[in-house]
Amino acid sequence: MPELPEVETIRRELAPRISGQRIRTCRVLRPDIVSYPTPDKFCRGLKNDIVREVTRKAKYLIIVLVSGKQLIFHLRLSGTIVVRPRGTKPERFTRIALSLDNHELFFNEPRVLGRAYLIENNRTAGMPKGLLSLGIEPIAPGFTTQYLHDHFKKRKAPVKAVLLDQHICAGVGNIYSDEALFHAGIRPTRRAFRVTRRETGRLVRTLKNVLKKAVRKFGTSVGDYVRTDGTNGSFQDLLYVYQREGLPCRICRTEIKAMKIGNRSTRYCPKCQKS
Ligand SMILES: [Zn+2]
Repeated sequence: MPELPEVETIRRELAPRISGQRIRTCRVLRPDIVSYPTPDKFCRGLKNDIVREVTRKAKYLIIVLVSGKQLIFHLRLSGTIVVRPRGTKPERFTRIALSLDNHELFFNEPRVLGRAYLIENNRTAGMPKGLLSLGIEPIAPGFTTQYLHDHFKKRKAPVKAVLLDQHICAGVGNIYSDEALFHAGIRPTRRAFRVTRRETGRLVRTLKNVLKKAVRKFGTSVGDYVRTDGTNGSFQDLLYVYQREGLPCRICRTEIKAMKIGNRSTRYCPKCQKS
């Protein structure tokens, strides 16, 4: 599932290639992929507008147009965005196809869970609710030990569940919460209010580290995620626990365990993450 580093990789790759380009045509191949407005208005609203810049908030990719409108993609579990040479035909799972001056931009989504939105300048009508209530991204300077510890103190939920809460840790998902908890030596089941201030400090550092490193490695390709040219990221080679259940820990050789927290699978090393 694309998290902050994967969406940031897409943003960095898209920005230089599509900025300044005109949207010549828009085709919606699966109407239910457009969350707002209607697929018809979506296409008419995009046609002939020009890409000003490509930004990102947490896991949302935002293409800002010269008109001030915002084209927002939420990739959810299996959405990808690929850029192909002009004239390339839509692919098997292409749900939205945009023809730009020099490129085709495809929103591919095998499971049709991802969504696209076209929001008018300075309006919030139609915006994904999740986008309006985001917490701080761990890579931002405002994500401090104090900030996270204040949230932890109020929560009895397992620390892993609190890390997945987008109102608190914007952009973090299953991969990077598991990895950050491993590096901080904290068991994912620990109740958040029992995580000490010192441990919280360590967790803030490991969250920042894994996210920044994953951006440098172009994200983690373990499911459907690919870069905009269709190739894989490479952070999967640097994972310590995520999807490594049954394998020996890279540090202590103890077998990595998997369990469910809420309905999300979680991996940890019973020895390196004692409690
Ligand atoms: Zn270990």
